[in-house]
Amino acid sequence: MKPDAKYKEVQKALKHFIPWEKGERTGGLFWLLAKYTCRAQNPKCHKCPIIELCDYGSKRKKS
Ligand code: SF4
Repeated sequence: MKPDAKYKEVQKALKHFIPWEKGERTGGLFWLLAKYTCRAQNPKCHKCPIIELCDYGSKRKKS
C-alpha cells in the first residue's frame, strides 16, 4: 500500500484481509490503536502490535 493511499484504497485493501462481518469490531480495534498507540504526535511504535506491517514503524525500529 502506498503511504499516500486514499481512504477508499485502504478500505478496499483491508476487505481482502478482514471478513466483512467482523468489520465493525475491527474498526473499533483500529480506533483503540490510533487513540493509545499510533498517535499523531509521538506514536508508541515500540509497543505497536502491527509494527512489522508498517514502513514508518519499521524504519524507526532500525534507527
Ligand atoms: S508502528 Fe506504525 S502503526 Fe504502529 S504506532 Fe508506529 S506508526 Fe503507528
